[in-house]
Amino acid sequence: MVHHLDFTTHIRLAWHALSDGWHALRNDGWHALRNEGRGQQSERSNAAGRGDESQAGRVDVVDLHAHRLAALGVPPLFPSDNFPTPPRTDRTLVTLKTIQPGSAASLSPKSQLTILGDVERVVGSGFRDRLDACGHPELRRTTLQTLQINVGKVCNQTCSHCHVDAGPTRRESMSAATATAVLDFLGRSRVTSLDITGGAPEMNPNFKRLVAESRALGKRVIDRCNLTILLANGFTDLPQFLANHAVEIVASLPCYLEENCDAQRGNGVFKKSIEAIRGLNRLGYGRPDSPLQLNLVYNPVGLGLPPNQAELETEYREQLLERYGIRFNRLFTITNMPVSRFLEDLLRRGKFEAYLQHLAASFNPATIEDLMCRSLLSIDWQGYLFDCDFNQMLDLPTLVDGQRRHISEIDDGEFESLPIATGNHCFGCTAGCGSGCGGSLT
Ligand code: SF4
Ligand code: SF4
Repeated sequence: MVHHLDFTTHIRLAWHALSDGWHALRNDGWHALRNEGRGQQSERSNAAGRGDESQAGRVDVVDLHAHRLAALGVPPLFPSDNFPTPPRTDRTLVTLKTIQPGSAASLSPKSQLTILGDVERVVGSGFRDRLDACGHPELRRTTLQTLQINVGKVCNQTCSHCHVDAGPTRRESMSAATATAVLDFLGRSRVTSLDITGGAPEMNPNFKRLVAESRALGKRVIDRCNLTILLANGFTDLPQFLANHAVEIVASLPCYLEENCDAQRGNGVFKKSIEAIRGLNRLGYGRPDSPLQLNLVYNPVGLGLPPNQAELETEYREQLLERYGIRFNRLFTITNMPVSRFLEDLLRRGKFEAYLQHLAASFNPATIEDLMCRSLLSIDWQGYLFDCDFNQMLDLPTLVDGQRRHISEIDDGEFESLPIATGNHCFGCTAGCGSGCGGSLT
């Protein structure tokens, strides 16, 4: 069944093309496809290590996955997709010259904004025009509910889609003084939730203090965890610590199949992620008889939008239990944002404009009411205010009275009705069913 290129095999190869080895399709062969993927993985110097992989069973597994996701309405596959690829602009060509394959993100926030702004020629109108056309001349804040802090860019992984451009060589990390300013704000604020992200937020030296003191203030605490950190030397006490403080864990697992997950997050990450979830399940996380919450995050391995969240959650639940005996509470589907490393991947592949066109064509006004930036405030590792983590990476600050502000000098009430800084990257949050840190919006 697997030794000739029948129709099913072509579908399987097309699914794998969603990962970094897409152009190996031209070679019309499985081994060429695998080798291409491996080459690009090694360029990324994944610090999560390499797992022993067996060829056995791989082909049938991927075939099953492609069919099931197709049944769930996953958009057409890349590169044999129906996103027309417009001719590259001069600006894109110039940009491509500046990007070294396998390098850390080389585009400044200003360059990213220029590129995102320039795409309006292709998309037809920008995000602000689309908002205006549906009766929202400006996006404005409502009541502040969640404080999200990005404690830095240090991470034990180097994922291909990372909008933070995080990795083991980054040094940006929240200081003890800024962590104290965050806790002081929580003490005088009515926000109900502290959402801690990074990088791998657990690698910040202030992580445990932030968790323990926020919980003591009665706040719900969310840890955006990459799972592999829970097995890393020096961090193996974390699962028990998180359980002791009833921290909600939101963990990335972009596929229930090893091949697809590792293509995005690095070789060996999937096996470690499953091992980490098993450990969390033993502590009560994700179990129906326990209050400890373990929510997983799916984001597309390729260039489509996420499928229906509820249906994919059912699929994940069945597959993860059947294959690995693991459990979780909720699945959040999140769209890949055209920011930082993912933006550069799009540019390298000549797919940036096609992807933005696809997002813009899928603009859904019904998502606007629930956009996360309306009720969330995002703090960078230095303590400055942004409307969301994506705006942080683009250096689009939240302005109060026209000024950039620090967490140490603000109060809750100052944010009600403040305008939100938007741009064409916001098409990523409003496409299809919408996307936010809690998954689908509609
Ligand atoms: S996506 Fe998450 S785990 Fe991957 S490099 Fe970025 S911060 Fe680290
Ligand atoms: S990227 Fe999304 S969350 Fe951020 S400001 Fe735009 S719409 Fe809001």
